[in-house]
Amino acid sequence: MNNNFDVIIIGSGPGGYVCAIRSAQLGFKTACVESRKTLGGACLNVGCIPSKSLLHSSELYHKAQKEFNNLGIETTNIKLNLSKMMNNKKKSVQILTKGIEFLFKKNKITHLKGKGLISSKNTVTVIDNSNKKTSYTTKNIVIATGSEPTSLPGIIIDEKIIVSSTGALSFDKVPKELIVIGGGYIGLELSSVWKRLGANVMVIEFLDHIIPGMDKNISTEFLKILNKQGINFKLESKVTRVSVVKNKAVVDFTNKKSLRRERIECDKVLIAVGRKSNIGEDVTKLDIKLDNQKKIQVNEKFETSIKNIYAIGDVIDKGPMLAHKAEDEGIAVAEIIAGQAGHVNYNVIPAVIYTSPEVAMVGKTEEQLKKENIKYNVGKFPFLANSRAKINNETEGFVKIISDEKTDKVLGVSMISAVAGTMIAELALAMEFGASAEDIARTCHAHPTHSEAVKEAAMAVDKRPIHF
Ligand SMILES: Cc1cc2nc3c(=O)[nH]c(=O)nc-3n(C[C@H](O)[C@H](O)[C@H](O)COP(=O)(O)OP(=O)(O)OC[C@H]3O[C@@H](n4cnc5c(N)ncnc54)[C@H](O)[C@@H]3O)c2cc1C
Repeated sequence: MNNNFDVIIIGSGPGGYVCAIRSAQLGFKTACVESRKTLGGACLNVGCIPSKSLLHSSELYHKAQKEFNNLGIETTNIKLNLSKMMNNKKKSVQILTKGIEFLFKKNKITHLKGKGLISSKNTVTVIDNSNKKTSYTTKNIVIATGSEPTSLPGIIIDEKIIVSSTGALSFDKVPKELIVIGGGYIGLELSSVWKRLGANVMVIEFLDHIIPGMDKNISTEFLKILNKQGINFKLESKVTRVSVVKNKAVVDFTNKKSLRRERIECDKVLIAVGRKSNIGEDVTKLDIKLDNQKKIQVNEKFETSIKNIYAIGDVIDKGPMLAHKAEDEGIAVAEIIAGQAGHVNYNVIPAVIYTSPEVAMVGKTEEQLKKENIKYNVGKFPFLANSRAKINNETEGFVKIISDEKTDKVLGVSMISAVAGTMIAELALAMEFGASAEDIARTCHAHPTHSEAVKEAAMAVDKRPIHF
């Protein structure tokens, strides 16, 4: 094999593999280094894909148990076969990671297996399983090494009793009691999975609200919905210790307001307090500039402090840690290397929580706009007044559209709905095109669909919704 490349990408997550494909499409001789056995990064192997598989299966299980009878679908003796459910998840992961292998072959991308280290600004050394080192020269390097779960000081994740999201995606039996530390999207998605499958779930959150960063109205409503589903919450609580005693976890926490201390014993503890960027020793050695959260600093062209070494995805100091953000950066950086105008609009990156109902947002929240002193109007429409949601017994949630007071330009949208994750794309597109709430209100939406609530919320900005 010829060891000279135009672009070598380190990491094959959604940032890295998409960057590799776009680079190859642009005519670059491209290689992608991956230390994991399979391609696809955290997203395909231990993130988006396995979590969505379990969310889907557990939702069906829950519906079959609790809702089918009401619809006239009589079912008896519904049983959970967890190992089959896990196998189904495994199959989805396998199909999708193999899919990337296929795309690499199709696009003539060299898959370098092993750990990639940047030995100089034009050399990447790959250390394979048998510790063999091979060096490759390249004109450009893209760091796409992603992130890994983080813990709290003094709490060691053993992936047996005290687990990260990776461990919580593979329990071999349903825990009787599960404590989830952290009320962000990963903690809440996995809380939903295990609650539906029969665990008693308690979420301990440091702040006085869940899903930090999302609109406060949404966070309050979502908390109510999850409470109704039987998930318990301890807000404003600081976990001080987690220890393992005789195959059980003991969690100590203190309420920040009352200073009341509590201790709870459980079968498993999921630590879902965030992820940290995956910075290799090579990056430190080369003195590539990091921010104070140890993320790689990049400019608007995704260049690091060393010219021709770029970085994208979870490892950089820009945007949320999300797969689609990493993908868009992967495309943009390949185009920038090719001399084109690659660009990512960080104001329009949707975020979705795939619970039931789903939560989605794009753009700014009301709290952000207040902070920035921007004047706005708000239009809200509840799914209680949406015909499709009524038919489907999916009346929880609402759409909230915020537009600029003067220009009516849409500044942000948040929603809770059965299909919020799919519907948010319309709003992202509207925002990309600089649409006003009036533009959305005047766009014909099919009936009966959940999307009509988007149109009605847009009409509500001008205080003229029809069905509410
Ligand atoms: C449980 C869970 C659920 C999630 N759900 C969603 C979701 O629904 N939607 C969403 O948008 N995001 C979701 N995410 C976040 C998403 O997975 C990440 O934002 C995304 O994977 C980041 O992509 P990336 O390419 O930057 O890095 P990663 O996906 O982390 O990939 C980096 C890859 O680089 C490899 N690597 C690291 N160092 C080296 C090295 N030196 N040499 C070779 N290879 C190396 C790693 O093995 C890894 O495979 C979820 C995450 C988790 C944990």
